[in-house]
Amino acid sequence: MSKRFSLCALAMVFSLGCTSNPVSAPTEGASLVHDHHSLSRPSEAKVVHAVIDWTCDFEQKCLYGSVTWRVARAEGGPGVVTLDTKALTIESVAAGREGSLHPVPLDLHPEHPVFGRALVIPLAPGEDHVRVDYRTTSAGSGLQWLSPEQTAERTHPFLFSQAQAIHARTILPCQDSPGVRFTYDATVRVPSALTPLMAARQLGADSDGRTFRFTMPEPIPSYLVAIAVGRVAAADLSPRVRIWAEPSVVEAAAWEFAETEAMIQKAEALYGPYRWERYDILVLPPSFPFGGMENPRLTFATPTVLAKDRSLVALIAHELAHSWSGNLVTNATWSDFWLNEGFTVYFERRILEALYGRARSEMEASLAKNELIDEMKDLDPGDTILKIDLTGRDPDDAFSNVPYEKGYLLLRSLEEAYGREAFDACLRTWFDENAFQSRSTEDFLAHLERTLFVHPPQSEPSVDLHEWIHHAGLPADAPSAQSPEIAEVDRLAAEYVAGRVGPETLPTTKWTTHEWLRFLRALPETTDSAALARLDAALKITESRNSEIRMQWLLMAIRASYGPAMASLEDFLSSQGRRKFLKPLYTELAKTPEGKTFALSIYRQVRARYHPIAQTTIDAILGLQN
Ligand SMILES: [Zn+2]
Repeated sequence: MSKRFSLCALAMVFSLGCTSNPVSAPTEGASLVHDHHSLSRPSEAKVVHAVIDWTCDFEQKCLYGSVTWRVARAEGGPGVVTLDTKALTIESVAAGREGSLHPVPLDLHPEHPVFGRALVIPLAPGEDHVRVDYRTTSAGSGLQWLSPEQTAERTHPFLFSQAQAIHARTILPCQDSPGVRFTYDATVRVPSALTPLMAARQLGADSDGRTFRFTMPEPIPSYLVAIAVGRVAAADLSPRVRIWAEPSVVEAAAWEFAETEAMIQKAEALYGPYRWERYDILVLPPSFPFGGMENPRLTFATPTVLAKDRSLVALIAHELAHSWSGNLVTNATWSDFWLNEGFTVYFERRILEALYGRARSEMEASLAKNELIDEMKDLDPGDTILKIDLTGRDPDDAFSNVPYEKGYLLLRSLEEAYGREAFDACLRTWFDENAFQSRSTEDFLAHLERTLFVHPPQSEPSVDLHEWIHHAGLPADAPSAQSPEIAEVDRLAAEYVAGRVGPETLPTTKWTTHEWLRFLRALPETTDSAALARLDAALKITESRNSEIRMQWLLMAIRASYGPAMASLEDFLSSQGRRKFLKPLYTELAKTPEGKTFALSIYRQVRARYHPIAQTTIDAILGLQN
């Protein structure tokens, strides 16, 4: 199944029909790589600015209103602009010049099951604006509408979006490709008592208190459009950092993320200025399917990282790092996803190293490499290739640690081969020279040729980039993190398994989350119920509310049919919807008939509480058709 993309880099010359406000025209030298995941045709006419007008209807569970696009047309183009849409009800379409639009016939192409429907809008000579009046539908995967019961407060409903990878087209008609960037202005009307937040600059509310205005002055790709609406409170951590959350959560979240400003300063010292004005964090209700989403100016985060000990704040370092890798310099297509995630994991660990010391970042890297090797055993070899072939597939279906951790290891091997100083300079110029652009793997290779490979390698052999990027699996010389702490836990685990130390003598009170995880993972898969009971009696692991430790322990409890942890398992599967936790637990349950029966009995009750992205994953694991 691993047929490679043939990349056709189309260097296009654009003319802006509207010269009065020519922001966001493609910069000189920018190229558009053909994106198999978008039905739009930006090489003919490319959207550059949106005016969004939404009313948020919690009764009907929809956003309705309009989006008006300004379009940059290629010279000699076919006189149309093509947008992606999926699961939208299109009410009317208009085209024309700014301020004088006229209705045009609706031309919606047949539905593709993954990519949706192309909306083709005719443009007469000189016309450069189109407007679509529409409403979202419950079939869309980009918005989740929560009932009051699904929130921490249980008093008001909540809405949040998740547009990555290709869900933006279910929120608004757009050119839903990471290679297309645009700015936007937005007006959002919400019911009283609720506050809308967007990943944009907040311009405040009108006098009615229900109409809110936003502007996004930096050009972004569609997958970074984000909105949340709910009853939220805020706490300021610094002049540019604010924590948003439901009122009962905001204090704990502000404590957990107190080091965010320090992280930004470390990040800036590494790779240049933070260019998005503010870095706010919104802690979402527990059904948020991811750890975090790097929506610009407003990271979305799961409440499952509120561990009360700041042990899981690597997540914030990660989402913050995306302000450079991903948001500032964006993968040109989802096949280049490792450019977003591998860079971000590398950057995240450099922030952690700068803030907490190398021991911490090496512990995280050491654990992650082991996880990657384990995960790769179960993946199709084609899905372990960095420049992955996603032709015809929803990028979400290929989601794994590979772009994250194999990408990290590639960058680390470059650092080790050419020295940190040279590699840091190479990354700094990558971000500076390509700021607010979308770039491909091939662009990065060319950048390495110009900026890194001019230095002599400090170690031989140097890095085989072709193998790293185009071959399955991990190169034999992939770097390994050096963590004496992890080595000591491995030693203790071996002693424990051999019966030479008892659980009471393990130095667990000093252990970090990472040491705990390593210890549990080092125990044999055959560890039985009696052995878990002995550990649990001494260490009270079933009582842990650290989400990472809890997930690992429950996984082992399922394997060993350890009854006393089953109530905790049911509670964990019912009380949060983070796919990282749900997927392995349901997968483990589904391996035995009794486990699958148990899984189905829980899932039938809680499925509606999970996000559509998580539902799709779990439906597949449990063999359900929807
Ligand atoms: Zn990421």
